[in-house]
Amino acid sequence: AQTAYAALRDKPATTRDGTTLSLYMNAGLMADLPSLPKCGATGVGLFRTELQFLIRTTVPKRTELAALYSRILDAAHERPVVFRTLDIGSDKVVPYMKRTDEPNPALGWRAIRVGLDRPGMLRMQIQALIRGAKGRALSIMFPFVAEAREFHAAREVMERELVRERQLGNAIPASLKVGAMLETPSLAYAPDSFFEQVDFLSIGGNDLKQFFFAADRENELVRRRYDMLSSSFLDFIEHIVGRCSRHGTSLSFCGEDAGRPIEALALAAIGLRSLSMRPASIGPVKALLRQSDLVSARATIDAARREGVPSVRPALEAWLQRSGI
Ligand code: PEP
Ligand code: MG
Repeated sequence: AQTAYAALRDKPATTRDGTTLSLYMNAGLMADLPSLPKCGATGVGLFRTELQFLIRTTVPKRTELAALYSRILDAAHERPVVFRTLDIGSDKVVPYMKRTDEPNPALGWRAIRVGLDRPGMLRMQIQALIRGAKGRALSIMFPFVAEAREFHAAREVMERELVRERQLGNAIPASLKVGAMLETPSLAYAPDSFFEQVDFLSIGGNDLKQFFFAADRENELVRRRYDMLSSSFLDFIEHIVGRCSRHGTSLSFCGEDAGRPIEALALAAIGLRSLSMRPASIGPVKALLRQSDLVSARATIDAARREGVPSVRPALEAWLQRSGI
């Protein structure tokens, strides 16, 4: 199977009925980057920046981070890389930050909430990203945005750093895209103006699913209890797709489900055109998409939903069999 996937590396993720998806990879280390040319991803759709902060006893230095971000962009050879700012706090504990015990860390003081309350680290990271870009294109995404005003506040921090870097005589990115992760249901109901102003959105399916079903993604007793292919969750994702397409907002889906072929097919069928996943999933997802007729998959999903099924998975699996896939 490995070699069959390797043969697909330079082929597009185009379905039988002619829809092309962009498949990106997730990364978090310099060591992940050699996978990029090997798996044939369009770019890095999610670069998680936590690791460099979690593995040390002191705050990483801005110059070290800038050097790392620069090497990541070098290794990507002009393919786009979306850097997510720090998603720490609560469960992801860094030893150099004062922490309070929280009863529900996943719902607690984390990610952009920390970034906005204690902007020192966020500012330092933004400076490192701008310096690492060395005048190249840069995409930055803020994690765990629950309300539009959090995005606007974070973007303001970003704009202020940009002005400051320019004043210091540092190179400014040739283009700068600033996006948000949609991983709390509330953000799906943000005002229209938010969808118009954000440069892109990426659905963080791991967190979004856990909050949608109120089922802890770390808890073995409940984490597999609800299906991503449940009719309710697909309806919700479709609502997000609809809002983005009405406002011309670029949307992608990262999170583990994007790397599961049937889930990826369902996401494509309800309108996603960009998915980001672990590198090893690109081949299997692309192979299935290339064999699938999206309009027919969509009709199967819609028929199952009209019947009131809890999950469209059985219907999709039967469709795959009927289609000889
Ligand atoms: C997600 O929540 O889906 C996501 C991609 O982010 P993380 O898994 O790092 O929370
Ligand atoms: Mg998340």
